[in-house]
Amino acid sequence: MIEIKKSPVDKITFRDKNFLIKRDDLLDDRFSGNKARKLHYFLNYDFNNFTKIISHGSAQSNAMYSLSHLAKLKGVGFEYYVDHVAAYLKQNPHGNYKYALKNGMKIMESSFPTKLKDEELFIPEGGHFVEAEFGIEVLADELKELDVDIFLPSGTGTTALYLQKHLKQNVYTCACVGGESYLKKQFYELEEDESVHPKILTLDKKYHFGKLYREFFEIWIELKKDTGIEFDLLYDPLGWLTLLRFQAQFKKEILYIHQGGLIGNESMLLRYKRRFSEDY
Ligand SMILES: *Cc1c(COP(=O)(O)O)cnc(C)c1O
Repeated sequence: MIEIKKSPVDKITFRDKNFLIKRDDLLDDRFSGNKARKLHYFLNYDFNNFTKIISHGSAQSNAMYSLSHLAKLKGVGFEYYVDHVAAYLKQNPHGNYKYALKNGMKIMESSFPTKLKDEELFIPEGGHFVEAEFGIEVLADELKELDVDIFLPSGTGTTALYLQKHLKQNVYTCACVGGESYLKKQFYELEEDESVHPKILTLDKKYHFGKLYREFFEIWIELKKDTGIEFDLLYDPLGWLTLLRFQAQFKKEILYIHQGGLIGNESMLLRYKRRFSEDY
């Protein structure tokens, strides 16, 4: 049995307001918090009939790293398909890419196979699949007694969706990838009943996923300095900017879900320091 322990809830003060933080970043340092939840279903799954896991996405994805760890735990291979690995990354492996290779990931620079063999287990990009519901329901159970409004930033929206499905409290989110209409579509793919979709909050300024923004780096630094907590650099800056902008709409104390992803910070920090090094 591989178990996932319950993660703690911390109280913080940021910009003179109190927040509760669900520390899923502390769940397991080998799984990125959020992906440990999404892959929970497979932790005690019988892999006897499988020889490898197949997935695809970007070369620095948190899901990629977590899958490499799952494959290693289960003693199966892991083949990961990417469009392209940048020359710099190949020559200087770092972040999720480096640690996934260490776990035995085989990286394939081509489109992923559409026909799979019976012994190959396919996991969709970012863990956007119904099997994720299992682990996110466990997270919902840990939160259900709290009298709070819940906020978390979304990628594929899988986590926010299944949380709202299993919680009475309001779940709010923002779209870090592809904007509000993309996120709605992602919700519908997993759940037709719109009444259990989370509420999406959207800033006026459009941000592109994975791009560097000065205000992202600044709020990340401020959070670290004032709360002592390191957040992720890809999703959390937009999460916090959105949360602070719409703060007046929340009726209850806000619980923010820290979804981990700190191994990914290694590559993001390199990029941010290269870009804004003269200022920080
Ligand atoms: C994957 C991930 C997300 C997005 O989760 P979705 O379920 O795809 O919305 C957010 N934050 C971190 C740190 C992640 O690794």
